[in-house]
Amino acid sequence: MSFSNLGLSNEIIRAVTERGYTEPTPIQIQAIPAVLSGRDLLAGAQTGTGKTASFTLPLLHRLSSDKSIKGTYKGYPPIRALILTPTRELAAQVEESVREYGKYLQLNSMVMFGGVGINLQKQRLKNRVDILVATPGRLLDHVQQGTLNLSHIEVLVLDEADRMLDMGFIHDIRRILSLLPKKRQNLLFFATFSDKIKTLAAGLLNNPTMIEV
Ligand code: AMP
Repeated sequence: MSFSNLGLSNEIIRAVTERGYTEPTPIQIQAIPAVLSGRDLLAGAQTGTGKTASFTLPLLHRLSSDKSIKGTYKGYPPIRALILTPTRELAAQVEESVREYGKYLQLNSMVMFGGVGINLQKQRLKNRVDILVATPGRLLDHVQQGTLNLSHIEVLVLDEADRMLDMGFIHDIRRILSLLPKKRQNLLFFATFSDKIKTLAAGLLNNPTMIEV
């Protein structure tokens, strides 16, 4: 199996090849076609399995093959894909991957988390951001201040959703979900399945592809 068999564009394959990847990992083999098809996804995978690339690669492919923002908007330019993570470290790491895998594409990404000044982030949000990687609390601070446009989100990713729930982010997540357009693709990643994950998935996902590696 190769990355080109999975349907990814040459620009993306070039970036992963330069990164030194010769073949996709098992989760990538399963997740990439599912995400490219536009379906929702429920995926169980530990860190170290290549899970980050399993959602960032097809996400980049999807967004780059249709560059337009649907419809009109007011104020801040709309974000097209939102990736939520439990921690700053993971947010920074995921955005780094988005940047690297997307280096031959014309897409802009941004990472946003708390504990640092908010003004630079506000400044950045005035310019186009296609892919936002964020922790829930700071994201809601921006919502509160009216500096974030979530009205055109096409894809939502919850990375390490079980950790987010363990950290008590469920209310923040529900609040964020209520701000997103109804028609969108949802990808939910967890390491350990639990009743809480089951409840979240049942309310969030529409006929998902299920993967466990
Ligand atoms: P992750 O599970 O996303 O934290 O990724 C774990 C590590 O595997 C990271 O250092 C990635 O750069 C690396 N990785 C991801 N996909 C591949 C691949 N197809 N081949 C080799 N290494 C990979």
